[in-house]
This record gives sequence, C-alpha cells and structure tokens, in this order.
Amino acid sequence: MGLKLGMILSTLFVLFFSSIFAQNGLVKEGFLVQDSQKVFLKHIQQNKALVIDHMSKKSYEVYGPEGLGLWLKSIGAPIIDLAIIEGLDNKNTGDYPTPEKVGDDLLKLSKKFPDIMTLFSIGKSRGGRDLWVIKISDHPNVDETEPEVKYIGNMHGNEIVGRELLVKLIEDIGNRYYSGDTEIIDLVDNTEVFIMPSMNPDGALKRQRGNGAWKDLNRNFPDFSTLDNRDIPDGREPETMAVMKWQNSRKFSLSANFHGGTKVVNYPWDTTRTPAPLTDMTIELSKEYASSVDGFFNSTEFPGGIVNGNVWYEVNGGMQDWSYYYHNDLQVTIELSHQKWPPYSDIPQYYSENSWSLVRFLKRVHQGLGVKLPNKTSAGKLSILRIENGRKKKVGDYRINNGEFYKVLNQGIYEVQVILDNGETKSTRVEVNFDTFHSDGNFLSLWP
Ligand SMILES: [Zn+2]
Repeated sequence: MGLKLGMILSTLFVLFFSSIFAQNGLVKEGFLVQDSQKVFLKHIQQNKALVIDHMSKKSYEVYGPEGLGLWLKSIGAPIIDLAIIEGLDNKNTGDYPTPEKVGDDLLKLSKKFPDIMTLFSIGKSRGGRDLWVIKISDHPNVDETEPEVKYIGNMHGNEIVGRELLVKLIEDIGNRYYSGDTEIIDLVDNTEVFIMPSMNPDGALKRQRGNGAWKDLNRNFPDFSTLDNRDIPDGREPETMAVMKWQNSRKFSLSANFHGGTKVVNYPWDTTRTPAPLTDMTIELSKEYASSVDGFFNSTEFPGGIVNGNVWYEVNGGMQDWSYYYHNDLQVTIELSHQKWPPYSDIPQYYSENSWSLVRFLKRVHQGLGVKLPNKTSAGKLSILRIENGRKKKVGDYRINNGEFYKVLNQGIYEVQVILDNGETKSTRVEVNFDTFHSDGNFLSLWP
C-alpha cells in the first residue's frame, strides 16, 4: 500500500516538474548549488530547459522556471537562493542609474563629442525600452571602409558592471580624443567602434538575469551544434532579434560581451570541445586582456585569467559562438566581477583596473586585413593563405557580400585571392602586424 502510494506520488511529481520545465530557457528562479563532488550535476544537466552558469570547484548556478527550487530540494541538492546571496534587497547597492538615466547619459555624451560619436537605437526591449548603441569614429555618421569592432554589456540584467564600465569607456575615449591622446586618436580615426552598454535594460531595472519575459538572452541565439541552427532572428526575444539584425547590417570582425559573477576571459567555443578557428590567436588576445587586470592574471581558479568556454561548462544558444560561427566576428565573453551587483561606489575602481585592456582589445581589430570589392553591391569568394617558411597554409575561404570584408588574423604574411561572382580574379600578398596603425585599417584596394 505504502509502496503503491509512493509510486503514484513520485509519478505525479515527475509529471508536475516535466510540465513546468517544458518552458525552455526561462530563468525565473536561480540557485547556487553547493555540489563540490558534482553529484547532482548530471541529473541537472539532463534537463535541457535549465541554465547552468558560473561553474566553480565548490559550486555552480542553476536557473529555471518557477518550481526549480522545489525540484532541486526534491533531488536532495544543497542550494542557496541566489537572490539572498546577491543581496537583491540590499538598499546599499541601489545607487545605480535606471535604464532611462543611462540612455540620457549616452545622449549627453554623444552631444558632448558630436565629431566622433553618434547615438542610435537598434530596437526595443520586450518592455519597450530602447536598445542604445554609440558609434565612435572620426566621421561617425558616414559608413567608412574601416575595421569594425563592438562591445555589448549587461545581457544578463543582474550583471551590471559591464554596463557601467562601457559608459565610462565612452566618456574616457571622448575626453582622451579631445585632449590629444595619440593612441585614442589613432583608434578613433581609423576604426568604427560600436558600444552597446546594455542589451537587457528591462532585466537591469528589475535586477534579474532574464529579460522582461524572464528569458536568458545568452541562451537565445542560433547554435550550430543544436537543432536551433538556422541564423534567423524571427521567433526569438526582441533583444536577441535586434542584435542579430544589427550584426547582419554590419561587418564586425572582433567583439566582446561583458558579464559578471567571476573574473575570467572565456573564449570560443562554448557549445563544443572542437577547437575554434585561430584559437592560438584568440588565447593571445584573451591573455592580453587578462594580463593587466587584478583578479585575472593572478587568478587561482583560471590560469592566466582565461578559460575555453566548453572546458568550463557547455553553453548552448550563446551569443559568443553565434557571432563567430555565423558572422566571422570573433567574440569573447569577459566576466568582470565576482559580485554581479557590487556597491556603486566600487565602479571607478573596476574601471581603472580594466581601462587599459578595454582600449587594447579594441585596437587589436587592426591586426588583420580587409578586402574592398569594386562597389558596395559586389560579391565573391575570398581565400586566405598564410605563408610560413616558404609554405602556404590555408586559413579559410570566406563569402563576401556587399563589397567589403575584414578579418582579424595572426601577425604574419598572407596571400589573398578574391574571385568575384562574375569570375574576375585578383590576388596579392599582404603583411598583418600590430606595430603600425594602417590608415583606414589594412584594407587592400584590389580595384583602385
Ligand atoms: Zn552573464
């Protein structure tokens, strides 16, 4: 009798939880699971609707729909509610500006530095808030043939340090440009820099990970290793769709997205253990970012302050892999702070620790080469070969649409060959280095 009742109850239990967990990617509840032996991890990972984040030796975070806490308790996992750990009720850390104030501040900055900045919105959040981007370049309202680099912050609403550092970076670049700082002048005059401090203003306002619909935006992108592998924006969250359409309209070749919860630079792939193209270079760039930031280069958890995404923990539907796989835009994920929502008064310290690396990473977009076709509607195929010790090694073949292509590469000598769709072929050799800033980037004019 007791056994039968137990079986009925456990069946009901399974039915109850399988129905609530059918809502993929919902992150309404979050818990720190203190599972140092990883006893519960497999069981949790089997549930594909749940989101795992910030794996460490002692613990990891799990996010999911309402009922997650009950379920974790039912399987015996030792948990702490992240809302308590992150002190969401702690009024002392509530001095942060609202999303509206951030928008106002960005508008003020764009008006203060109009010769090099322009502000625009790439769309609206689920809650109807503008998704602001500032473009920084010497002719900000002209689409010039220059390397394009971007930063995106705050896609997890409760990870706020990135948003604040990016606003500070914009102001700092403006001030340094006008005070005659040659490093910044070189960068601004020869690059198109795009900065989006907050991808998730609704989440930032509510201090929650998900967007206004409690969806995890960093699990909402197409993923080449899953069934959701078509690069189509429709049907995703508004913030994701906006970023996807924006990316489609540009030619970014290097980018970073900023998070919080630990200190590390995470590099592709997240979704599979197979090495991503040019991983050696990606490691170099990641190490360089980490090299000047306290808590990164001297990290005891992550040697050198860097980690491969998949080695750390698998992420499906993340922005980083989508960016690199579908758009040839090498992206890393930078976790800036152990506390996701530190006291507001700590922000200047975080900025001073990261400011050199933030600028240096943007400059690295110049370590590459570009190809300009006869006109904006030209299309064709590009082959890049690296010449080493007299031998040629294929880097890759790339499709060029809309007349322009740029790729960040290892320093070295390359042979490039362009075959236009009309059959016309050109090839040349070019050196990629990082010692000299090429005017307007290292764009080859094969059709002068
Ligand atoms: Zn995050």
